[in-house]
Amino acid sequence: MRIGLHDAEKEYLKKKSFPNYALMKISAWHKAQGDTAEWWNPLYRYDRVYSSKVFDFTPVDPYLPEDAVRGGTGYRDIPMDKTLPPEIDDMFPDYSVYPDCDYAIGYITRGCPNHCRWCVVPQKEGMIRPYRIWKEIVRQDTDKLVLMDNNILACEYGLKQLESLIGSGYRIDLNQGMDARLVTEQVADILSRLDWIRFIRFSCDQRAQIIPVRRTVELLMERGVRPYRIFIYLLVTSDLEDASERVEALKGYKSINLYAQAERNERLGVMPNDMQMEFQQRYVYSGRYRRETWEEYCRRKGLS
Ligand code: SF4
Repeated sequence: MRIGLHDAEKEYLKKKSFPNYALMKISAWHKAQGDTAEWWNPLYRYDRVYSSKVFDFTPVDPYLPEDAVRGGTGYRDIPMDKTLPPEIDDMFPDYSVYPDCDYAIGYITRGCPNHCRWCVVPQKEGMIRPYRIWKEIVRQDTDKLVLMDNNILACEYGLKQLESLIGSGYRIDLNQGMDARLVTEQVADILSRLDWIRFIRFSCDQRAQIIPVRRTVELLMERGVRPYRIFIYLLVTSDLEDASERVEALKGYKSINLYAQAERNERLGVMPNDMQMEFQQRYVYSGRYRRETWEEYCRRKGLS
């Protein structure tokens, strides 16, 4: 069979994009059956086309065949908890479809025990549970491992796996941001001894997380981690006072990396307003926050 693969984000962004885990597994499975798999081209005919769309805002390709097998949270008519068939999910991803990707990706755990208002993970993945051992995920041609676990610290198994990565020769990134509320002295010991590709990432999505995030930064600093290695995701809801308070509480760690994300969930009809975008783009991305408070910034710009 001739298989066409469609990565909606790759098509839309027209540049190097994060590899699509499901499509790589689908490609691997079909190739193992003796099929061919290639990027879908609307001018060619295929026996089957698979399309994945991760984000709500990525446009739907109007030329996709009607019988394309679709998946991903970006397709709003597809149940959020739809998963790959087990025989495909068990495949090692076919990295050859993303030749620029020089790292392995995967999950050690799936799911999350929490139910944050803005997050689709509990609905999509369910309760946290073990999923893979890291040795099954790594590639032999690179020492980089990017883990997409949503709340690895909430799972004893996940912590044990992280601990066993210490001294393995692999450099890791946990790209979803860890929950600082779960960082104890023992967890900080593990995190500080791991080899990170670049950043150690945490989330600070509401003011209640300020104290745990600050405590985590201090625990890591005591163990030799410099603030420039720490990266904090800041959810920016319409409560900009809350977001501003978090920025002020964290920017004192001089070289810490703050990354604002305006809340957006098209499925729930949640779209960022202009002030959230101003906060995200012009105030935090630009680094203005280092020189003035949000209040001072708004006054100077005549924003209300
Ligand atoms: S802790 Fe993280 S993954 Fe879990 S529900 Fe909250 S935002 Fe989502």
